[in-house]
Amino acid sequence: MISYSYVRIIIRSALALCFLFGLKKTYIYFTHNQEPQIQLQGLDENHAYADSINCTLALKNKTSIKFLDAKLNGKPCDIESKKIIGKSEVEHLFSIDTTLLEDGKHTFALKAVDSTYNKNSRSIKIPFTVDNKILQASFLQDKYNINQGRTARVTFNTNKELSSANIAYLSKQYNCCKVTPYGSMYECFIPIECDQDSEEHQIIATLTDSTGKSITLHNNISVNTVEFPKQKGFKVAQEKIQDEKDVSLSNSILKTALHRWLEKSPTEKLWKGIFDLPCQVTRYSTPFGEIRVTPERGRYLHKAVDIVHTPRSVIWASARGKVIIKDRYLMSGNTVVLEHGMGVHSLYYHLHDFADIEVGDVIGKGVKIGRMGKTGYATGYHLHWEVRINNVAVDPLEWTEKWT
Ligand SMILES: [Zn+2]
Repeated sequence: MISYSYVRIIIRSALALCFLFGLKKTYIYFTHNQEPQIQLQGLDENHAYADSINCTLALKNKTSIKFLDAKLNGKPCDIESKKIIGKSEVEHLFSIDTTLLEDGKHTFALKAVDSTYNKNSRSIKIPFTVDNKILQASFLQDKYNINQGRTARVTFNTNKELSSANIAYLSKQYNCCKVTPYGSMYECFIPIECDQDSEEHQIIATLTDSTGKSITLHNNISVNTVEFPKQKGFKVAQEKIQDEKDVSLSNSILKTALHRWLEKSPTEKLWKGIFDLPCQVTRYSTPFGEIRVTPERGRYLHKAVDIVHTPRSVIWASARGKVIIKDRYLMSGNTVVLEHGMGVHSLYYHLHDFADIEVGDVIGKGVKIGRMGKTGYATGYHLHWEVRINNVAVDPLEWTEKWT
């Protein structure tokens, strides 16, 4: 049996607790001065949206919300505020139907006031864009016929700005960029290996607009076989190779550096228009793709052009780019490599010396990078000039011609 005094203790304790709880609530009511803790997820500032925007309003507040006002472009917007009013902790889902809005800029605003004496409030204003226009695009060429060792410059145009675009070719991805900042034409540079089989291969472009919607376009690249010429004979004296070894880094270091830089290649173009020849030309001593046999490398293709002009004549940047390599290597001698973005690099070998440039400098087309020399694996004064896309060397002279 529970004694009367025991019951009395329980009742008194309960009353004391109620009193203390009430006291605490009253204390919070008069002293709380923090703005309501509300978070809006699903609608991000300055993002573009299509169809429905699914939002979550998360509330985790010390006191309940007394007033909640939502406005779209300054006009009342129904987000079923009643499900939040009177609550201090809730996750409320609502959506904004953008198909009822015009394409362009809009603002969603929210104001919440708590139920304290101070009427603490929090206001959120989120500008966003609606873009319900259906993305449309087409290639500017029906099919691409490209020679081995050359570049497929693939172009397409769109009816709206893209947030990303890339083309898949033979299991590799190539980034696409706008040809001019304000136009609607995009381009992509795809290297065709010198030993690529002469078949037709599909290219698939994946284009994504600012709302995240994607479309794909299909086209084909047909590769033409090229009969690359054979070089008669070529040998560098052993004494010269030995001398170079004393002052040079191994070319495997250059190879590693080029792979490392490729991973960091900017997705945007750093250059404009076509490339310039990087020096004056008396003659081309070795054309692109010539088949060579040397004691050091065996049989290989010379995937560059060798340009001969006056010894120690000026060599300049063939296009705007960032200096990423400036060093001396056993085979390539004094070497400069420029980063042009989109995975495109230009390489300049055998320089006599370097101009006043440093790694990290962004230099314009025509800026001096050094003088024509014969450092490294070279028998005479010349410039070995390469252009690589994703580390695949392509005929650089094509880059100095107008793309058709
Ligand atoms: Zn060469």
